[in-house]
Amino acid sequence: MKNDKKDIRALSKEELRDFFESIGDKAFRGNQVYEWLWSKSAHTFEAMTNLSKETRSHLEDNFVINHIAVDNVQRSNDGTIKNAVKLHDGLIVESVLIPAKNRTTACVSSQVGCSLDCKFCATSRLKRMRNLNPDEIYDQVVAIDKESRLYHGMPLSNIVFMGMGEPLMNYKNVLASIEKITSPEGLGMSPKRIVVSTSGVPKMIKKLADDGVKFNLAVSLHSAIQETREKIMPFAKSFTLKDLEESLHYWYELTNKSVTYEYVVWEGINDKEEDVLALIKFCQILPSKVNLIEYNPIGDDDFKQATNKALEMYISLLEKARIPVTVRRSRGKDIDAACGQLANKQ
Ligand code: SAH
Repeated sequence: MKNDKKDIRALSKEELRDFFESIGDKAFRGNQVYEWLWSKSAHTFEAMTNLSKETRSHLEDNFVINHIAVDNVQRSNDGTIKNAVKLHDGLIVESVLIPAKNRTTACVSSQVGCSLDCKFCATSRLKRMRNLNPDEIYDQVVAIDKESRLYHGMPLSNIVFMGMGEPLMNYKNVLASIEKITSPEGLGMSPKRIVVSTSGVPKMIKKLADDGVKFNLAVSLHSAIQETREKIMPFAKSFTLKDLEESLHYWYELTNKSVTYEYVVWEGINDKEEDVLALIKFCQILPSKVNLIEYNPIGDDDFKQATNKALEMYISLLEKARIPVTVRRSRGKDIDAACGQLANKQ
């Protein structure tokens, strides 16, 4: 029965080598299969042409290759592409290709749905069904890399974990996927071109530091005032700003790496001077920069993008405090591919 077979990509290279030894074959076959599975992204055992027919059918009898299928592709007027990706069990996640002048960025999902409850995010309305496996994250990147080559004539240059889900709530698999993405046996991408974005899970930020990760960290802050943050991101009652601050201290001490704060300014929520002052104070914990993100409406009247005047106040006060600030305009809004809009709607 197909379902009793093990997903071969859950095996490490060592385990694959052991498997071949256990059936009286040469261990190096494990290396060959590993290469087919990862750097060559083979979807079938049939495709592994340097293995004998016998070996291939033996693999077929024991394993499956669970791979994703890009189910639906939507293209925005601004060149952004959104993939609806079907997983082996029929569940769907979304990933996005965002082209810029000299680079292309993949925005990938880490969970089906999300367990957090950010009130302004469309994904939070979907129940968290399950974590993605490392290969399911890896495959999203491979699919987007192909599209980048096809439509933009260049390989994928950057990856952001800003799709569906909270990456640090699927810690092990996210790190395993990055391991594969950065390994020469996988895609060989530099960790410097990868950003993991978290809503701020202090314990896991500390664990990233302990694990000495080389990729970049972004934190979705949105408010540096506990009372306000709790209102828009209720989970922040348990993951307080105080704990977040402590974990970021720890992160910087161990990694010597700065962080980026993602921040949306909403009318009547965080558009006052006191909000900016609290943000500035928070930014002084460690070297950091602020990315002001445009709000993408998700059909909820409680949230409205702040006025340009409020945004200008943010920018000028942050600049005065010598905190680097950028304003990120939304991409792919017409196909619901912008930040916070991923909700399997198409
Ligand atoms: N769970 C992770 C990653 C996914 S969200 C995190 O929270 O960081 C990626 C970014 O989009 C986050 O900064 C999130 O706060 C922001 N975001 C969510 N909904 C949004 C919306 N409607 N408009 C603009 N940004 C939004």
